[in-house]
Amino acid sequence: MQAWCADGHEPLMITSGRGCELTDQHGRTYLDGNSSIWTNIHGHGHPTLNAAIRAQLEKVAHTSFLGFTHEPAIRLADELTGLFPGRPLSRVFYSDDGSTAVECAMRMTLQYWGQDGHPERSTILSFDRAYHGDTLGAASVGGIPVFKGSGNDFGYKTLRVPDLESLGRLTEQQVQSLAAVIIEPLVQGSAGMRLWPKGMLKELAAWCRERDIFLILDEVMTGFGRTGTMFACQQEEVVPDFLCLAKGLTGGYMPMAATLTTERVFEGFLGAGRTFYYGHSYTASQLGCAAALASLQVFREEQVLEQLPAKVACLTELLEDLRRLPRVMDVRQCGLVAGIEVGPWPAGELRGAKACLAARKHGLLTRPVLDTLVLMPPLSVSLEELARMVAALRHGIEETSAQA
Ligand SMILES: *Cc1c(COP(=O)(O)O)cnc(C)c1O
Repeated sequence: MQAWCADGHEPLMITSGRGCELTDQHGRTYLDGNSSIWTNIHGHGHPTLNAAIRAQLEKVAHTSFLGFTHEPAIRLADELTGLFPGRPLSRVFYSDDGSTAVECAMRMTLQYWGQDGHPERSTILSFDRAYHGDTLGAASVGGIPVFKGSGNDFGYKTLRVPDLESLGRLTEQQVQSLAAVIIEPLVQGSAGMRLWPKGMLKELAAWCRERDIFLILDEVMTGFGRTGTMFACQQEEVVPDFLCLAKGLTGGYMPMAATLTTERVFEGFLGAGRTFYYGHSYTASQLGCAAALASLQVFREEQVLEQLPAKVACLTELLEDLRRLPRVMDVRQCGLVAGIEVGPWPAGELRGAKACLAARKHGLLTRPVLDTLVLMPPLSVSLEELARMVAALRHGIEETSAQA
């Protein structure tokens, strides 16, 4: 805030957007290199999404979901559950954002085991460097210290491990205390786009299944095509017990989240005294549901997933160029998600942030995770825009390296 309030600092204000392009208060345009913090899917001002939100607005913007339902929510649940063949995830619980999608999954697992005669299953296992959101509960399974506030002494009982191999070193008692394992599949986003080894997710799912421990997949960032498939877990043929969705669910147009789960979990909550006392005022917002339905419609109508392989391959090729820069230490890519690690520079120099600011002058908006520059364009990005984005990043890195 001190830097923000300092004399001479003029905050950037975005006033409009079309496709991958955003315009600021002075009429300058930028490419949206991080999909407006990992949310946007089909670009800004998409006619199908805009029209769907307008049409919904003419009917009603929002109504309570506590003891009521409505058509957009019913249709959306039908479409979301239909995204997996055979509908193994047959039930949908709506909330507002990624953190609450995760909270909801964790609270369901704990209550499920509590009322299923297994109160000892009260611990949630997560991974080092994980990020699952900023509310107390979601942060308690996070593995990045700065996002946990002071003390870290709150939230759920958790057990944190660095990798899959460490599961083999847990004691029998620790394993029996587990209600669920939570992970960001394929790639840990806020850790700096860190990729899990290939096949890790599949092995983890098998480990959980053998012990009847729930698997919660946090696809808040990876969902809706980011990694090249509709969901990251589909690349390893894994179906979790809980799938947490938010950011891209509405194409990045409205705040909204969904937690998908199985018939088994749903049935665990039937009967007296088994109510799941959890809900938010804006649960299943009608405008949000309308936007999400429109986003799925665009996926079908514009064959968005079918067009991804060419874009992913183009990005891979463009990134090769960055790899050769002396200050680029590592380039990680998963679908249309890329992390470009620069340095080594002392952490306090914030050179990652400086490189992004330098790239801004070349028409790219993005934000780093420490010294990892993030490139995560909307799926609607063109090959030409991809090239401009990477060129701007290159300028940013080169200028920052020259000053170091
Ligand atoms: C962003 C994010 C969240 C939190 O979502 P919010 O909508 O910001 O609450 C949770 N998990 C992952 C993997 C995320 O990237």
